[in-house]
Amino acid sequence: MEFRFAPEDEAFRAEVRAFIRREIGDNPVDRVEGWQAHRRFIKKLAERGWLTLAWPQEVGGAGASHMRQLVFNEEMADWEAPANDLGVDRVGPTIMLHGTAEQKERFLPSIVAGDAVWCQGFSEPGAGSDLASLQTRAVADGDSFIVNGSKIWTSLAHYAQWMILLARTDGDAPKHRGISFFLLDMKSPRITIQPLVDMVGRHTFNQVFFDDVRVPRDCLVGEENRGWYVATTTLDFERSGIQRVIGGQRACDRLIACAREQIAAGAVRQAYAAMRHRLADFVIDYHVGRMLAYRVAWLQSQGIVPNYEASVSKMFGSELAQRLARAGMQLLALSGQLTPASPYAPLAGKFETQYLTSAALTVAAGTSEINRGIIATRGLGLPRA
Ligand SMILES: Cc1cc2nc3c(=O)[nH]c(=O)nc-3n(C[C@H](O)[C@H](O)[C@H](O)COP(=O)(O)OP(=O)(O)OC[C@H]3O[C@@H](n4cnc5c(N)ncnc54)[C@H](O)[C@@H]3O)c2cc1C
Repeated sequence: MEFRFAPEDEAFRAEVRAFIRREIGDNPVDRVEGWQAHRRFIKKLAERGWLTLAWPQEVGGAGASHMRQLVFNEEMADWEAPANDLGVDRVGPTIMLHGTAEQKERFLPSIVAGDAVWCQGFSEPGAGSDLASLQTRAVADGDSFIVNGSKIWTSLAHYAQWMILLARTDGDAPKHRGISFFLLDMKSPRITIQPLVDMVGRHTFNQVFFDDVRVPRDCLVGEENRGWYVATTTLDFERSGIQRVIGGQRACDRLIACAREQIAAGAVRQAYAAMRHRLADFVIDYHVGRMLAYRVAWLQSQGIVPNYEASVSKMFGSELAQRLARAGMQLLALSGQLTPASPYAPLAGKFETQYLTSAALTVAAGTSEINRGIIATRGLGLPRA
């Protein structure tokens, strides 16, 4: 069976590609850098109606098909354009599914307009994979809840105006049944944000402390104590997405081009003999990864929330990215360790950065062990260990 995108989708692909090249330039290595530039780019996408392409029209989206969204995501990832937006990918869809009419009216328009920055307050120092053990407390007090505790690895909390927050509202109930899901205004008094710098030297995540922070009751999503079931939908959305695979494919293409150049320049052929087969294997793996991501998009197009299928795609894509980063470092040898700051760094230091950043890929959005567990139980029907 040969399957392909509809001609209208391919025409849209060409339009997106032309837009991205115009905005970012022809060389994807010179991609949009910096937070302000990132937000300006997001705003431009919003103005074209592309930021919330597959959102329904009644909430301000373009009402495009999931396949159209897939084409868009492929092009963005291929050009390493900064389209990842928590509000669009996870918060909005979660509010659409579980929020009240007032919450939809209040929170969705600013996401559609590209104005709202959201962060995700789920993980805690003692609760990551076992998220349901979280200890941050929210105690009902009249028309609000008072929050105390701490969240960690909170990406972009230092920029965010809003947080999706999980907090324990019933300490006596079984752990999954005493959690509630809140929308927290990050300007609320008594929130402290402490930066955490990663091993690449970047400040993307934070630890966030809550000291008697007040959240109005109308910011509770879904029923009190049923927040776990709201959060699992958010996490399913998090594991969907083709960008993991396409970004890696672009890196793979660069590595192949580099190998070709080095061979042409007379570099020792012997070293590349084994690498040729490895690179061929990567090309196969990236085709497989693309198909797995297409399957997730197809499920979404049928109105099904991808579940273990998203875990398959996520795990495959993130482990593949790590294997590619390792192969890249081997191929580029010592010079591969030069950082992007060095004018002598091959591929503009891309693989040095990728090698370091890819370590996080099998931790974020569920570790590989957790995703394997999801596939085994939800996908294969095997009992829990
Ligand atoms: C780049 C990045 C961005 C992130 N951004 C956010 C964010 O914005 N908001 C947020 O809330 N969180 C965020 N996180 C946190 C992320 O969700 C957690 O790191 C993740 O859930 C793992 O939790 P942990 O770090 O506590 O590790 P742990 O859960 O302590 O795991 C440690 C090791 O034990 C293994 N393990 C744990 N339980 C099991 C089990 N049952 N069976 C087998 N092996 C197991 C794990 O696979 C892992 O190898 C981010 C993480 C990264 C890396």
